Amino acid sequence: MSNRQTKTDVILIGAGIMSATLGSLLKELVPDWEITVFEKLANAGEESSNEWNNAGTGHAALCELNYTVEKPDGSIDISKAINVNEQFQVSRQFWSYLVDSNLIRNPQDFIMPLPHMSLVQGEQNVSFLKRRYEAMSNNPLFQGMEFSDNPEKLMEWIPLIMQERTSNEPIAATKIDSGTDVNFGALTRMMFDHLKSKNVEIKYKHSVNNMKRTRDGSWELKVQNLDSGTVERHTAKFVFIGGGGGSLHLLQKSGIPEGKHIGGFPVSGLFMVCNNPDIVAQHHAKVYGKAPVGAPPMSVPHLDTRFIDNKKSLLFGPFAGFSPKFLKTGSVFDLITSVKPNNLVTMLASGAKNVPLTKYLIQQVMLSKEKRMEELREFVPNAKSEDWDLLVAGQRVQVIKDTPAGKGTLQFGTEVISAADGSIAALLGASPGASTAVSVMLEVMNRCFPQYMKEWEPKIKEMIPSYGVSLLKKPELIREIHASTARTLGLGEKELQLAR
Ligand SMILES: Cc1cc2nc3c(=O)[nH]c(=O)nc-3n(C[C@H](O)[C@H](O)[C@H](O)COP(=O)(O)OP(=O)(O)OC[C@H]3O[C@@H](n4cnc5c(N)ncnc54)[C@H](O)[C@@H]3O)c2cc1C
Repeated sequence: MSNRQTKTDVILIGAGIMSATLGSLLKELVPDWEITVFEKLANAGEESSNEWNNAGTGHAALCELNYTVEKPDGSIDISKAINVNEQFQVSRQFWSYLVDSNLIRNPQDFIMPLPHMSLVQGEQNVSFLKRRYEAMSNNPLFQGMEFSDNPEKLMEWIPLIMQERTSNEPIAATKIDSGTDVNFGALTRMMFDHLKSKNVEIKYKHSVNNMKRTRDGSWELKVQNLDSGTVERHTAKFVFIGGGGGSLHLLQKSGIPEGKHIGGFPVSGLFMVCNNPDIVAQHHAKVYGKAPVGAPPMSVPHLDTRFIDNKKSLLFGPFAGFSPKFLKTGSVFDLITSVKPNNLVTMLASGAKNVPLTKYLIQQVMLSKEKRMEELREFVPNAKSEDWDLLVAGQRVQVIKDTPAGKGTLQFGTEVISAADGSIAALLGASPGASTAVSVMLEVMNRCFPQYMKEWEPKIKEMIPSYGVSLLKKPELIREIHASTARTLGLGEKELQLAR
């Protein structure tokens, strides 16, 4: 046991994209605040934010069919898609600010332009896609979206998917060129390098094991140095729990009433990856399909071009599965130790409701590689087993809570939980995830630092010109933001043309 003790303004737990984003925002707004980061692994961006642990989709609702819902009258509700898109525009603006200000460099190392497409088969699905396209394509946020049900056009767009396709079923796709592939791992590491240069103390191999409130309302953290085994105590006025899947346990240790009656349900992910350059060269898009009936929204199959370390590869998946771990590097006891007297009823209610989902996930885990190849062949009819390898992705911990819809309802979004006095906040949930990190961290700031928001507003607007504005009501601003961020982030001539 060491008696090392420190006091600081802010402690960020976890070195993923969320802590990186909050730290970078705060460093611009209040450079004098002292920030310390504790990360139990040896580097930043090693868990869900790592490039190989997520799909790298810049989620802007350009291709994900689960963000648009068909209403009983057959019309398509695109409000969720608008919301996700606006949040992504906020991220683009902040990343552009970081690049423009030379705080991070070489945007091509973390973001690449890539068409986003939705692909469906069958008469009903084609009709849905067409109505969805009609609802979206006139909206300035989705400008440039194209629709086609012509196999020749589709062959031009997605040759790898269309060639050797024998089915006579109707098939259709939408395509929009302003999509992106984002290397969230690289971006996280760049932001932590920047924070280090601004004297943020980043302590790797330090695991936060417990925390308690002190008499003056600060938080004292018990942190274990994993190299030496010693235990240190660190105090801060504000703590952000950005532990990804590890956040729920830490929130429970804080004991704040807002963290009670909440549980977590872990969903594991697997991708198939292809590095054969002949095959990789035949595909250039993120192509999202429809989730099979009974499958959770995060298992929508998609075939993606990825750009990682200047190399192109193809990723197919994710295949969702069940594992009791909350982090990829977590413990098999994570799920069971997250059940506490205050969330027992919530967890039991959820368990009873989600038997079919659990069954589905367990079946998915058991799939052989050949069975997974069969699913891939729905996308790439001539896919050969020797060209594709299995890749274990990150864990997602879905939030379980009591809602008006009932006790123990499984949530598929992201949730910010904060103490009433704003001294601590945690981020739970995983979707739309890293793409919306900037909006979500602004929400954390709004909840925890309301007394400073007015004073910070001019600087926030300098970093994020659309801050506090509904983009949809300002088509001119959308065009301006598309153009300026495309220029700074190197997102291609086509997008610049659309913005003009
Ligand atoms: C299969 C899959 C596909 C996804 N695809 C996409 C996508 O295409 N687009 C998208 O935008 N998002 C996607 N996501 C979601 C996205 O990856 C996450 O939302 C995001 O990375 C979460 O970032 P984070 O900083 O909260 O967590 P993480 O990146 O997991 O970081 C948390 C960190 O906290 C550390 N930590 C945990 N507990 C402790 C502790 N007690 N002490 C010290 N350190 C601790 C961990 O080691 C880890 O480094 C996907 C996720 C998965 C799993």
